Amino acid sequence: MSYTLPKALVTTVVGSYPKLPEAEQAIQKRKRGLISEEEFHELVKPAIKAVVMDHIEAGVDVISDGEQAREDMVVYFAERLGGYQSGDWVRIFDNVYFRKPVVASRLSYIAPMAVTDWEYARSVAQGRPVKAIITGPYTMVDWSFDLAYGDRRELVLEMARVLRHEIEEFARRGAEFIQVDEPALSTRPYKEEAELLREALEIMFKGISAKKIIHICFGRIEKILPYALEFPVDQIDLEFKNSNFRLLPYLKEYGFDKELGYGVIDVHSTRIESVEEIKNDIYKLIKMDIIPPEKIYIDPDCGVKRLPREIAKAKLRNMVKAAREVRRELGYE
Ligand SMILES: [Zn+2]
Repeated sequence: MSYTLPKALVTTVVGSYPKLPEAEQAIQKRKRGLISEEEFHELVKPAIKAVVMDHIEAGVDVISDGEQAREDMVVYFAERLGGYQSGDWVRIFDNVYFRKPVVASRLSYIAPMAVTDWEYARSVAQGRPVKAIITGPYTMVDWSFDLAYGDRRELVLEMARVLRHEIEEFARRGAEFIQVDEPALSTRPYKEEAELLREALEIMFKGISAKKIIHICFGRIEKILPYALEFPVDQIDLEFKNSNFRLLPYLKEYGFDKELGYGVIDVHSTRIESVEEIKNDIYKLIKMDIIPPEKIYIDPDCGVKRLPREIAKAKLRNMVKAAREVRRELGYE
């Protein structure tokens, strides 16, 4: 089954979706050591299928597996990489525990981590492309304790080398869209940090022909933007709605020329944006004439995992309707 993407204003998701009970139960069972990794991914399947169906029913073009297996975007990968200390909770002092995973020895890639769920999502996606999504090296390192490297820069680059194996696995299996999530970057919006991430992205994406995406969210993104334009990616996915579109003038100022993932849904609010409102927000970007509609992807600001499922779905449905109407008004369909 093949699916034709619209010529402009392709709709997509950032990745996460409200956790379904089947996934929650599977996560708990795995935590208690009752099931193997293989059984775990089997148990998560019904949840992934339900997410895929929600995405399809809402009409989203490029969908995801909803990250149903991931209790946490860093811990999930830390538990599956070599070099991390096992156990989610780390004792810092006598009775002070932290949830940060610990890099205890040299990192290594053991086996595909997010590939199984992604492949399953693709098998039930009725031909729609499914984004392959991993947490990026900068965020992995930022949210971990380092007891092995003693040098953050070295660790970030090493993490990139290790995560590259996962990206190669996705590419080998024909992933059309590969996204790296880097929410931690906006916590240190400085040139040196953005340049470190650029180096890491070069390691991860060199020679990969899939569409390469970076998702960054919240914080002072305008300070990073000029450097982010140098990232070796095709698309930069950013939050706009929650920050009231204040980034728009900066796109113009810095001559944004990549594809843009344009966040028009507030993931921190249960209020369902109306179709009219979203259309208006889409036109805000189009009217600025920064990039053509062919290079604009319409999506929520970030993952929607914290919203109730019905609200997440209703928001996506309106987002798709709005994109369709704008496309029609612009003469694309
Ligand atoms: Zn985000």
